[in-house]
Amino acid sequence: MNAPFKLRPYQQEAVDATLNHFRKSDESAVIVLPTGAGKSLVIAELARLAKRKILVLTHVKELVEQNHAKYQSYGLTGGIFSAGLKRKESRHQVTFASVQSVSANLDQFRDEYSLVIIDECHRVSGEETSQYQRIIELLRQQNDALKVLGLTATPYRLAMGWIYRYHYRGFVRGGDDKPFQHCIYELPLSYMINRGYLTRPELVNAAVAQYDFSALPQDRFGEYAEKDVNELLGKHKRVTRAIVEQVMELAAERQGVMIFAATVDHAREITGYLPDHQTALITGATDLKDRDFLIQRFKQRELKYLVNVSVLTTGFDAPHVDFIAILRPTQSVSLYQQIVGRGLRLNEGKQDCLVIDYAGNHVNLHHPEVGEPKPNPDSEPVQVFCPGCGFANIFWGKADGDGRVIEHYGRRCQGLLEPAIGDDSAKLQGRPQQCDYRFSFKECPHCGAENDIAARNCHQCQKAIIDPDDQLRDALKLKDAMVIRCAGISLVADGSKLRITYHGEDGEELSESFDFSKPGQRTVFNKLFGRRFANSQAPRVFSSADEVFELQTLLPAPDFVIARKQKHYWQVQERVFDYQGSFRKAY
Ligand SMILES: [Zn+2]
Ligand SMILES: [Zn+2]
Repeated sequence: MNAPFKLRPYQQEAVDATLNHFRKSDESAVIVLPTGAGKSLVIAELARLAKRKILVLTHVKELVEQNHAKYQSYGLTGGIFSAGLKRKESRHQVTFASVQSVSANLDQFRDEYSLVIIDECHRVSGEETSQYQRIIELLRQQNDALKVLGLTATPYRLAMGWIYRYHYRGFVRGGDDKPFQHCIYELPLSYMINRGYLTRPELVNAAVAQYDFSALPQDRFGEYAEKDVNELLGKHKRVTRAIVEQVMELAAERQGVMIFAATVDHAREITGYLPDHQTALITGATDLKDRDFLIQRFKQRELKYLVNVSVLTTGFDAPHVDFIAILRPTQSVSLYQQIVGRGLRLNEGKQDCLVIDYAGNHVNLHHPEVGEPKPNPDSEPVQVFCPGCGFANIFWGKADGDGRVIEHYGRRCQGLLEPAIGDDSAKLQGRPQQCDYRFSFKECPHCGAENDIAARNCHQCQKAIIDPDDQLRDALKLKDAMVIRCAGISLVADGSKLRITYHGEDGEELSESFDFSKPGQRTVFNKLFGRRFANSQAPRVFSSADEVFELQTLLPAPDFVIARKQKHYWQVQERVFDYQGSFRKAY
């Protein structure tokens, strides 16, 4: 049977990657394709090639319908199992289903399935009790070689980070808590735009006014509390008004405008400034029927403005959209891409899509996702080469004008190393291992192994590692101890001796000397300072005080220094590097 559609080259590649992967492995896999890349065609082709029963799962009925329609257009017949679509067919070789409906009718899925495809698979959580995991668990009971394939444009969840563990280009995205094992194919958004598969975004830096969310406190995922956002926006009604006026002015030459608001209150306020008869507001609370009706009118261009609060980021497809106004904060490159992606579908007569960011997100659409919450507003993705294996890591950080990385927040190299020849212990199974080079670390006081700064027990000897917070708290309680927040260090080299002075935030000073003619002291210095030279990007073993002095600008400074009082002086006891805890660091 010939495919009625010619797959685009990358779609064929994605299909081939899937076949190759499952030919040699039963481990779950993810394909990453940007919005508008035609995931439903890839799914249809895989479903067409499958010989045995397969289940295509997604979380919204619109996607169930779209994926099913694409499959049927091959001249094939598949079933639909979705309460929202009022169909409960599970007898076909290929079933397109909503996860909620399958979950509520597990007894109807007792057959042996060979493959589960999950569309928008970034919604799968790692928890075993989730709907997706329960379905997979059940199907695995019928077939322990069940294959699981996920597709998404955004392989990243705020609460979890990356949804998979290993990337086919040879790097690691996380531990064994990820719902998927392998990313087997990925295509960047820029590829789609450059090849003309998507409309070019016209990223205009012409906002009349901008919100500044940067002063708001963030949770550990880098997100803001709705209450804080509302409070801030409540004080800036004039800003919102001015923004909406500009949007309307620019919209005169546009077909369809999508406005992404920060909160429900904010969305209501925005809607209030827009022409009533041309505007729809959709929030998470909008009744499904009303929502369908409003979207229909928007698609038919009876409505020009569609205001929403992050509900229209998946499964929504209105190719005529040619203006995206972003009025909400986000630090996720993926989410930002998803929002902008709403306007990038090709459509007749559409030249470009205007994108204006009114929330000062400073997200570069073509930047790679870092996979961690942005540590502060001026961080940007920087490329950090691993001194151990050479892998080019992407971390949050800062670079100078020449692109040199002056600071970064990476902890451990993400490079994957092929297993050494002969190293085929059962645990490794010939699987590549993550490079163990660490850019920030705590040293185990028992065995000297380097551990992640958040580790409680040593990964090598399993013994408890002293928590720097406890260390600081204990020292602060003592009368004969001194703790300084270190704002910087200065050096004096005198023959073989190097004197380091730690400068506290309030002008306090502590100092200590290392005698490089003594091997023991040299080793201690190199472990503390040489190992962390140039943000641990170029660790070094120093052999003389003069050598250190010459390169002092790249020497690391500890965040805290703890000293104990001796008879006539303060003796430095601890230098706390790479600190991340509840005490404030020096400015
Ligand atoms: Zn490495
Ligand atoms: Zn240890």
